Amino acid sequence: MLVVANWKMNPLSVEEAKQLFSTISQKEEVVICPPCPFLYLGKNFVLGGQNCSNKKEGSLTGEVSAFMLNSIGCKYVIVGHSERRVIMKETDDIINIKALMAIDAKLTPIICVGEINKSNKGEEIERQLKIALNGINKDVVVAYEPIFAIGTGNPCSIDVANERRELIKNILKEKGLEKSLVLYGGSVNSENVSFYTKQAGFDGVLVGKASLDANEFNKIIENALCSRKS
Ligand code: PEP
Repeated sequence: MLVVANWKMNPLSVEEAKQLFSTISQKEEVVICPPCPFLYLGKNFVLGGQNCSNKKEGSLTGEVSAFMLNSIGCKYVIVGHSERRVIMKETDDIINIKALMAIDAKLTPIICVGEINKSNKGEEIERQLKIALNGINKDVVVAYEPIFAIGTGNPCSIDVANERRELIKNILKEKGLEKSLVLYGGSVNSENVSFYTKQAGFDGVLVGKASLDANEFNKIIENALCSRKS
């Protein structure tokens, strides 16, 4: 079971980041992905970057190398988040290179896939995932994050989430990556988390907004880890 916090571009001050770290339950199944300037504050946590460059090093102002993330103790990096696909126009091929770069740097990529349109029957995530996994021969983490559910308060229905989870698991199996974990992300909170981790059988969750409220996030962790035990 894996519970991943994606703080995105929050909070705005080092004091607030310290406060968040000091109140979140620290467990091996919990991964915190804060903004880069706050990574050093989470030394006792399992850490992940929110993004990495598709290049190893060089003249790329503002970029962060997967190797840098590894060198400061990160274990994971998120690649292909919908905000990067849509706002930063990252293509499937770029995301594939980032995932390969992460593995090269000894990080586990958390590869996000998700359809923009609710009526899409899974072809979009099939394409995204197959391209993202090109050349990958090591288990990864895949997060199913339908865009219509991210930050909207409207999580994906259990039935659709379950169908997508099966599709993702099948693709991973075809590629010989069946030990990869599959997470759900999109408006997860302490009330609905066990629908995904227990009923739909996901291996964990990726949490955005609710991970910025330590009390709520601690409840999400507790409920998710409970599903694992029962
Ligand atoms: C996300 O952006 O990865 C996410 C899951 O956001 P939220 O939990 O706020 O929907």
